[in-house]
Amino acid sequence: MSAFTESVARFVEKHPTLYKMILLAENAVKKPAFKCQECGQCVLSSTAFTCPMRCPKQLRNGPCGGTRPDGHCEAYPERPCIWHLIYTRAEKLGRTDLLVTIQKPYDNRLGQTSAWVNMMAGRIDPWHWKSLRDCEKGKAPPAG
Ligand code: SF4
Repeated sequence: MSAFTESVARFVEKHPTLYKMILLAENAVKKPAFKCQECGQCVLSSTAFTCPMRCPKQLRNGPCGGTRPDGHCEAYPERPCIWHLIYTRAEKLGRTDLLVTIQKPYDNRLGQTSAWVNMMAGRIDPWHWKSLRDCEKGKAPPAG
């Protein structure tokens, strides 16, 4: 992100109690609001604020191709396909253009770590506050 945020992340990582407090705060927000699975590599802003790690196959770049005609999961027919939800919500929010952002493969080493700190450290991609369309119109920087 920036030299400043990287130094803040380094400071936080040197202080385990502070790190745990930030992780607790992050989980307190993201677990109830987004059903966060603590991957530590958050992509919510690219997936219409719907956590793709709820997919049983943990697919972060679109559906597997097995989505049922009613929009439910092939592995758990009683559940909606997460990517069906993501697309529906992205349409409502005007953020479908962000769905073409290619997400990096999931890095298991980041599991159960703080995505907020990882973002400040520049370890993971920054958030997209606006859709790419709005960025092109000059309404916002591309990311972060
Ligand atoms: S993408 Fe990762 S960090 Fe973000 S809400 Fe889902 S599990 Fe949590």
